[in-house]
Amino acid sequence: MRTDTNLSIDTEAIALSLKNQSRCSDSELKEILVRARQMKGLEADDVAALCTISDPEILADLFRCASEVKEEIYGKRLVLFTPLYVSNLCRNDCAYCAFRTSNKGIARRALSMDEIAAETASLIDEGHKRVLLVAGESYPRDGFDYILKAIDKVYSVKRGSGEIRRVNVNVAPLEKADFVRLKDHNIGTYQIFQETYHREAYAKVHLRGRKTDFDWRLAAMDRAFEAGIDDVGIGVLFGLADWRYELLAMHQHIRHLEKRFGVGPHTISVPRLEPAEGADLASHPPHPVSDLAFRKLVAILRLMVPYTGIIMSTRESADIRRETFALGVSQISAGSRTNPGGYSDDEKKSAAQFSLGDVRSLDDVVADVARLGYTPSFCTGCYRLGRTGADFMDLAKPGDIKTHCAPNGLSSFLEYLMDYGKPATQKAGMISIANSLESMDPEPRRRAKIMLEKIRQGRRDVFC
Ligand code: SAM
Ligand code: SF4
Repeated sequence: MRTDTNLSIDTEAIALSLKNQSRCSDSELKEILVRARQMKGLEADDVAALCTISDPEILADLFRCASEVKEEIYGKRLVLFTPLYVSNLCRNDCAYCAFRTSNKGIARRALSMDEIAAETASLIDEGHKRVLLVAGESYPRDGFDYILKAIDKVYSVKRGSGEIRRVNVNVAPLEKADFVRLKDHNIGTYQIFQETYHREAYAKVHLRGRKTDFDWRLAAMDRAFEAGIDDVGIGVLFGLADWRYELLAMHQHIRHLEKRFGVGPHTISVPRLEPAEGADLASHPPHPVSDLAFRKLVAILRLMVPYTGIIMSTRESADIRRETFALGVSQISAGSRTNPGGYSDDEKKSAAQFSLGDVRSLDDVVADVARLGYTPSFCTGCYRLGRTGADFMDLAKPGDIKTHCAPNGLSSFLEYLMDYGKPATQKAGMISIANSLESMDPEPRRRAKIMLEKIRQGRRDVFC
């Protein structure tokens, strides 16, 4: 049964906004940036106007503004996670994905619970604390219970003091009753991407299976909220339709959730189409997004919804990822594989979902991030203290989150360095921690020092 959410994308309003704002003067654009600096978010017309920026000087202003807002709210923290693909079985036919049902040439695999435990152990031994569990839309054993058992399995694996402390989930939209069951299994964020908010573009690339139903997918977050999940992640697969249209449609989706449930999404993901085996369209995006437009859209998102996390995956190259950290990205994946079994058992080949732009190990990414002056964070404190949904936003909005997140980020980083870091990473990490402490306000610094000392003395999982 479809939930009546009253959510529909108003394409006429988007077209009008884009048309009306296409002739914004430089001074009007600068005024919008002054407003954006107040960190109260942007209205649709402002977003449409910023999309038109081409003058290098104003573009530099946009990037500077996004960077300041990012720093003010998130400080130097970058949260790290990795995807855990448990199955590439799928009954849908998405023209851009290697797992599409019509791609008969690839090796398919759904991991057994023992195999999921082995994958989890490999990730823990690398130093991961957060995973994003991912699957195609066809569950091998026990139907959807397969996913619930997989989540429990990931949480159950312990390796000394190592463990996965937060399992986020990216699986196909569910009925409300299954969302209720998903919540009971202690997930962090439920994440699903609309792929494109453009109905016609959507129909052209979703050729078979449940995913052909645009409205079923669009209403997924409403069903999740109705089921009590208040921590959701949305996204667009950039390249399927005009990126400016997608930002404005996303703006409508977010405002709808805020109006109906009092809180918007916790995260936004910004995947761009990457080549995928057996899916030619992925190599020829109908609406390619240039690197410059990509940086621009990340910066605009940061100003549009300052308190919503932005996730950058390893689809992108190391260079692009580095550039977007300053523009607003707050979470990154690292050391990722997109083939089930890819972390522990590469002998039994199974196909990957798409090509990766950044294939570096977690430790290499951690060292790089630290050298760039950021704090790689493995913290899972908010979610475990119940600071999710509206509670998280209440805390985040006045900037208070920094007083929790900054010390938590440092203590989880030191834990990583002591337990898993290579010597060169430890060296870069210790310098980064010392610099971060120096730039902190007195109260969070005091708190951070106490927490770091506990980690040095052997305590683990210290957060406030
Ligand atoms: N199967 C579920 C679904 O489609 O919603 C959930 C997982 S799906 C494996 C995760 C995401 O991968 C999709 O939502 C899509 O945005 C992304 N994806 C698929 N093919 C891609 C490609 N060629 N390049 C980049 N991202 C891709
Ligand atoms: Fe299946 Fe998801 Fe790939 Fe579509 S994107 S073919 S639903 S795994």
